[in-house]
Amino acid sequence: MRPTVLCFSGLDPSGGAGLQADIEAIGQSGAHAAIACTALTIQNSQQVFGFEATSSQLLLAQANAVVNDLPIQCVKSGMLGTTENIQALADFLKSHPEYQYVLDPVLVANSGGSLGDQATLVHAFQQLIPLATIITPNTIELRALTGLDDLELATQKLLSMGAHAVLVKGGHEATADYIRNALYINGELISETTCARLDGEYHGSGCSLASYIAGRLALGDNIQQAVNHAETWLFATLKNAESPVVGGQKIPKRF
Ligand code: PLP
Repeated sequence: MRPTVLCFSGLDPSGGAGLQADIEAIGQSGAHAAIACTALTIQNSQQVFGFEATSSQLLLAQANAVVNDLPIQCVKSGMLGTTENIQALADFLKSHPEYQYVLDPVLVANSGGSLGDQATLVHAFQQLIPLATIITPNTIELRALTGLDDLELATQKLLSMGAHAVLVKGGHEATADYIRNALYINGELISETTCARLDGEYHGSGCSLASYIAGRLALGDNIQQAVNHAETWLFATLKNAESPVVGGQKIPKRF
C-alpha cells in the first residue's frame, strides 16, 4: 500500500479547502490520505457561517482506529478548531515520534471567516510547534503566532520556539505581481522562491500546499524536495483554478 498521510482537518462543504483539499492533494502527490475529522464547517467559497468541532475523544478515536491499520508515515494538521483538539493532537504525536508532521497553523479561512477563537488557538499551537517537521504559516499566521510584525524577526522567533523547519508563504504580502516564499531549516534560510501573482483569490491553497508537502515527505522526499515539488504543483492548480458561480474565491483544480 502507498505510504499514508493521516490528516487532522475539517470538512468544507465547498470542497475547496479542508479535508477534501487534503485528500486530493495527497492523492496527487502519490501518497494515500487518511482523515481524522476535526470539525464540520458551514461555508461556501465566499464566507464561513459557522462550525461544530469534533470532541477530542472522537478525534483521537478516529486517528487511533487507523494507526495500526495503514502505513502512516506523516501526520498533517489544518483546522483544529479547539484547544482540546490541539492538546489531543499533541498527545497523539508524542506517542508516535516516528511520524513526520506538517503543521499548517490554520486560524482563519482565506475568506476571513473564523475557524476558532484566535487567541486561544495561538496559545495552544505553541505545544505543536516543536513537534513539527515543518510549519507552513502564511504571513498573517506567522505574525499572530509570534506577536511580531517584522517578518524576519517573527520567523526567527518561530524558529526559537522550537520549529525545525518553516515555510513562510508570502501570498498575503502587498507585492503586486509576485509572491515570495522562504524556507528555513534548522534556523537557516535555505531557499527563497518567487512566482507570478495570479489574479483573484483562492480557497484552499494553503491546505493543498501543506498536504502535498506531507505526501512527498511520506514518499521519502527531504524537506526541501517536498517543498519544491509542492510549490510547482500548487502553482498549476491555481493557474487552472475554477471560478464558482457567484464570484467567490476560486477553487484550485487539483486534478
Ligand atoms: N480547513 C478548513 C476546514 C477550512 O474550511 C479552511 C478554509 O476555509 C482552511 C482549512 C484553510 O484554508 P486555506 O487553505 O484557504 O488557508
